[in-house]
Amino acid sequence: MGQGGFCYLKKEGIWYKSAFYQHFSATDYVGHVFSPSSMEAEDNILRLDKTLANLFNFIDEKIGFENTLIVLSADHGAPETPSHLHDYGIESEQLYIMNLGEDDMLLKKLHIDKSHIEAFVVPYLYLVA
Ligand SMILES: [Zn+2]
Repeated sequence: MGQGGFCYLKKEGIWYKSAFYQHFSATDYVGHVFSPSSMEAEDNILRLDKTLANLFNFIDEKIGFENTLIVLSADHGAPETPSHLHDYGIESEQLYIMNLGEDDMLLKKLHIDKSHIEAFVVPYLYLVA
């Protein structure tokens, strides 16, 4: 579980605890590292489902849903890992690269040079549009 906290609002001179947010960061991490279709991702979603059920039960008992607005959002999807794609007969390859040198094997494989790269943030390579 990630960051969370309360938000306070002042109304007519009185401070009210008015909002709570929670970021479930494990889902992002597991999706990036293991892929969204992995057993690890499935396990993570099952655990998140139990966590949300406990949270909603707590809200229902202590605050009441009639006094609560629940908003869920997500930041993005994730690609499958090459090893997972292999399981479906899709040719792919995983390269373990932490830095890109001028004559890096990845650049040779892609037939590009560093001028074609916008950014390299492990594990993603962003090409110039
Ligand atoms: Zn992410």
